[in-house]
Amino acid sequence: MPGTNLTRDEARERARILSVDSYEVELDLRSAVLPVAEAEGAGRFRSRTVLRFRCSEPGADSFADLLAPEVRSVVLNGTAVDPEQVFDGSRIALPGLAESNELVVEAFCAYSRTGEGLHRFTDPVDGETYLYTQYEPADARRVFTTFEQPDLKAPFSFTVTAPAHWQVFSNSPAGGDPVAVESGLTWQFAPTPRISSYITAVVAGPYHVARDHYTRLLPDGRRLEIPLGALCRASLAQYFDSDEIFTVTKQGLDFFHQEFDYPYPFGTYDQAFVPEYNLGAMENPGLVTFREEYVFRSKVTEAAYEGRANVILHEMAHMWFGNLVTMQWWDDLWLKESFADFMGAFAQVEVTKYQAGWITFANRRKTWAYRQDQLPTTHPVTADIRDLEDAKLNFDGITYAKGAAVLKQLVAYVGRDAFFEGARRYFKRHAFGNTTLADLLAVLAETSGRGGEAMAAWSRAWLETAGVNALTPQLVTDSTGTVTAFTVLQEAAVETPTLRPHRIAVGLFDRDPVSGALVRTHKVELDVTAGARTEVPELVGLPRPALVLVNDEDLTYCKIRFDEASLATLRESLGELEDRLARALSWSALWNLTRDGLMPARDYLEIVLRFAGRESDIGVLQSLHQQARTALDLYVTPGARDEWSARLAEGALRELRAAEPGGDHQLAWARFFAQTAGSESDLQLVRGLLAGTARIDGLDVDQELRWTLLHTLAAAGAADEAALTAELARDDTASGKRLLTVCLAARPTPEAKAAVWREVVDSDQLPNALVEAQITGFQSAAGTGRRELVAPYAEPYFEVLEKVWSERSIEIALRIVSGLFPRLVTTEATLERADLWLREHAAAAPALRRLVLEGRDDLARALRAQRRDAARG
Ligand SMILES: [Zn+2]
Repeated sequence: MPGTNLTRDEARERARILSVDSYEVELDLRSAVLPVAEAEGAGRFRSRTVLRFRCSEPGADSFADLLAPEVRSVVLNGTAVDPEQVFDGSRIALPGLAESNELVVEAFCAYSRTGEGLHRFTDPVDGETYLYTQYEPADARRVFTTFEQPDLKAPFSFTVTAPAHWQVFSNSPAGGDPVAVESGLTWQFAPTPRISSYITAVVAGPYHVARDHYTRLLPDGRRLEIPLGALCRASLAQYFDSDEIFTVTKQGLDFFHQEFDYPYPFGTYDQAFVPEYNLGAMENPGLVTFREEYVFRSKVTEAAYEGRANVILHEMAHMWFGNLVTMQWWDDLWLKESFADFMGAFAQVEVTKYQAGWITFANRRKTWAYRQDQLPTTHPVTADIRDLEDAKLNFDGITYAKGAAVLKQLVAYVGRDAFFEGARRYFKRHAFGNTTLADLLAVLAETSGRGGEAMAAWSRAWLETAGVNALTPQLVTDSTGTVTAFTVLQEAAVETPTLRPHRIAVGLFDRDPVSGALVRTHKVELDVTAGARTEVPELVGLPRPALVLVNDEDLTYCKIRFDEASLATLRESLGELEDRLARALSWSALWNLTRDGLMPARDYLEIVLRFAGRESDIGVLQSLHQQARTALDLYVTPGARDEWSARLAEGALRELRAAEPGGDHQLAWARFFAQTAGSESDLQLVRGLLAGTARIDGLDVDQELRWTLLHTLAAAGAADEAALTAELARDDTASGKRLLTVCLAARPTPEAKAAVWREVVDSDQLPNALVEAQITGFQSAAGTGRRELVAPYAEPYFEVLEKVWSERSIEIALRIVSGLFPRLVTTEATLERADLWLREHAAAAPALRRLVLEGRDDLARALRAQRRDAARG
């Protein structure tokens, strides 16, 4: 990525002197359907931009951004300038600006295979080509000439010429029927409201389109009409449940209009499910893009539908938080991401049928945040983002999940009404503008009644300092078992020492004498002070409970710890805990104890084997499976791995056979069984399920499950290339090819691992989706002997890092650097090698160092956990 960075200081200076009146962008995408090998220019498309802008200091110099292989002409204020003189590959110099300026640039830009810019994908099923754009934070410049920073907003007018049988979509509706031109049609889209360049979008191709309509009477008597569209590739249309997508969409539009009191300002609302997408989804106004894995080809659990609904609502919240009101620079990325993450769960529980939103939030999103917040690279929610490389890495567990958890805590602190009234004022005051933290705190100070000082203190504690606190209950009882003192202890890590005020609920649980269930007997809400000890006199005088849960109801963001007696209760009776959220919180607390090396990994696995089969919440069960796999791969002492792998497989098979036929739990256990199966009899069953000679009542071995089972055989060395490739006869699709790639890379042979290295590291020919598939297969763990195959790549990994970082696009570099870190080679030698690299590369790009530091920290954590597990005795 040589020379493609942009610093905050440069952006600030540019925004100080420039303001933009309009963009007119013309793209000619007819070349997209030319066979790449045959036609000159097939890898490129024509891009013409007319940029009208003002300069408050006439005579000053500035620059525009463009990443293009070829610039044909540059005309500034009517004067043609030699592109060679002003274009350096990523910037166009703009010397001696006038007060009012017009820049016209004609360029040829490149189609992308990395998901950055204008991505081109050809469907193996029907040979059709599909395009979509993805820009955040700074890839609009791969498609047109722009000022690539969020605070230079402008109206954008897009004109797109495409093959005649295509559909073309952009942020705004098309202003009339497309016009015929030679071998194509030209689509003219209405100008957008003032928006930032990173949320502009074009989606083009022979997409399958479902349509619907949303209407609402506004408080002022006007009727708001929003045409809705949902798109996917034609070959996925048979699986596309657009009705369900529209239902959630309408529920969300109802909710956000009700709560935000600001009519949706972007006209249409289309949602495109697109191939080889790098992220979950992107909130482009009027044209949200999603990864197409959200179109379910095979049976998935309710948790997958819930997850998709959450993403739909998250992106919708961005129409207000992010698109209408936008952060000034990436330091305040959280101003949109934390809010959207919080609002996604909030809206889901309020208006959809997916009622487990807060359980998933507590169990999955917060687990992400806790992990990230304990890395040496953690940062405050409001971050210090020096440049675009920093920005790229900031789409992390802090910005999303911790920020959202902190907002949940804020709602507990100021109340729901004050929170939403603050949001309403924020939108009205800053519509189509840009904001910083101070603007948000100002409205909250007004509406919360807590005043500016209190909000500033809250912000310092929660937004401006890093780290997670641990809360532990401490009980003193007398000889009769009555509580005589109840204290909540607060701790912080040495590196992130802030203790905070927390609004929490403490729940007390006891066994019901009749049913034996663990039920809540008391709950008190209280403020924990920003100190090490908070006394809770309300709970003195009660009999000692079986279980104390600090942060009952999940109001604050903290690691829950237990007193000894409560921990013993959970080991014996976690499955008896009736309350779903309390149970999810307990599971997540036990996982944190394991990760922190405070509970031996095998103790954790013991509890999972004992109680996971009784877990009714499917999302929680699926995280338990994931965590059990991580514990086995990384935290169990190496000598015990094989035995515990076998025990997990045995437990999985037991639960698989016991699960309700055809239900979600059966499917989840089938997948977990496939992930842990290793013995000859396990593999025999896997072969039988694939061949149809073995059956488990109600279990549909559909295409996705077939690939999961094939992966098991591949990783065990029980399926060769021919056997794996034969599956394409059933599933010769993009997904089939991707899943086959995972299987081939998972084979336990030196040749298979060498092939991954060659194709991913030594070559740059693979698209993003296949890079990811190769890495997933390469790192397939478990099983004796398989780690030895990846161990020889630890050294080459460290040797190649800087080259990868400098030569590959940032999306691909990110995947390689974090994906190929030798995480399975959990030895002191790997740790020392990582430390050596860090010492010798103090001046490497900070974003690269960050990724290596994080891999190193995970490794150190694994070694600590293994030592704890070894000492279990
Ligand atoms: Zn988002």
